[in-house]
Amino acid sequence: MTFFENQLKKGIFQICYCNNCNNTIWPPKEICHTCYKKTDWKKSKNLGKIIEFSKKESKYFGLIEIEEGIRVLGDISSTSMPKIDQLVRMSVIFDSKPHYSFIVENN
Ligand SMILES: [Zn+2]
Repeated sequence: MTFFENQLKKGIFQICYCNNCNNTIWPPKEICHTCYKKTDWKKSKNLGKIIEFSKKESKYFGLIEIEEGIRVLGDISSTSMPKIDQLVRMSVIFDSKPHYSFIVENN
């Protein structure tokens, strides 16, 4: 299991970046593909915004952009119809693969 997956198991989404090039590496890699230096990690704030969403059997899901332009797919919990650009809080469960879920933040 990679460091990234191990952290996801604890509910922590780590953002992979290269200190040397100042680039975010997504999907995460041990080695930067530009300068071949070892990459570094920083904890995500677990906040994002809705890029697009759809509804399936009364449940919402969609594409969310978190920090550094990283985009992930997941379920969206909302009591009303979600909106594009709406702020969401991310939680993650890792069970052989990551499952992301997002809760709409109250404005
Ligand atoms: Zn680099």
